[in-house]
Amino acid sequence: MSFYPRVELHCHLDGALPSSTFYKLALKEGVIDKTVDEITWKNQIIITEAMPLSECLKRFDQITALLQTPENLEEAAYSLALSMYEQGIRLAEIRFAPQQHILQMTQNQAVETVLRGVNKVMLIHPDMIVGIIVCMMNYGEDADNDDANMDTLNTAIAYKDKGVVGIDLAGAEGAKPTESFRYLFEKAYQEGINITIHAGEVCPAEAVRTAMSMHANRIGHGIHGWNDPDVAKEMIARQIPLEISVTSNILSRCVDLTHHPVREMMDQGAVVTINTDDPLLCNVTLQSEYDLLQKEFGFTEKDLIQVNLNAARASFCQHKEKIIKELEKALSS
Ligand SMILES: [Zn+2]
Repeated sequence: MSFYPRVELHCHLDGALPSSTFYKLALKEGVIDKTVDEITWKNQIIITEAMPLSECLKRFDQITALLQTPENLEEAAYSLALSMYEQGIRLAEIRFAPQQHILQMTQNQAVETVLRGVNKVMLIHPDMIVGIIVCMMNYGEDADNDDANMDTLNTAIAYKDKGVVGIDLAGAEGAKPTESFRYLFEKAYQEGINITIHAGEVCPAEAVRTAMSMHANRIGHGIHGWNDPDVAKEMIARQIPLEISVTSNILSRCVDLTHHPVREMMDQGAVVTINTDDPLLCNVTLQSEYDLLQKEFGFTEKDLIQVNLNAARASFCQHKEKIIKELEKALSS
């Protein structure tokens, strides 16, 4: 396939940690010793068969435990952005939940640390753009993280135009109704923060409707929104970009391969973008997702360029005009 700039919009820093970094940090922190090799260490965290999202989410704990010092968190961000560059990605949004890295840091410090890591890569490779999305977390009704989520929002406001390009709601979708986060998104909207919300990944279509009513500029997954013709119609009419990650959806039992709506979404005019979500846990790359789309859903090279163009246009990052032009040129050639 010819070279064109790849765009990744939905990728979680912890779930996307390069396996070499995951191994190196586990050795450094004494979680394993050298009798364990990198492949064995990687294989024990990969999700090999579909399981409920709640089970998938538990796998993140092992990774976030390694990312509690500024040195390790910076290395994670640096190595991920660098590995993205090496895969041809030129515009990337990396998301993470700063409230999961506060054993030794404040949320602001965690964000500064991640920005330091990705900024180093942009210095080495000036043709790459990386923005950070901070995630608020849904831990369910019993969790006491309302203040932590408000801190995350304040972090997004403090670092707006300084590398943080948007805010998200991640975690266990529906464990606490998405609606109960509305006040946070109202404030984010008033502050001019770009919004994406995990919705319609686990929960039914109504969750996507709720997210769209909470000023979401984009939807994380949104696949179940497709089951309700009215919600699907609204997604198309408003041209809300959808951050689709096919393998992740299958592994977390949100949908099976034969029923994934990605092809239909494309054909009916939804704004589809293709992403990895958690390449370490799902054992995928952006390219392997493209291969899957070609093999199972008949995506052509033009379709793949189109989803990258959709993603570049939908990106919250600034200074992306050159990448959009390159993709427009690739599409018309
Ligand atoms: Zn996600």
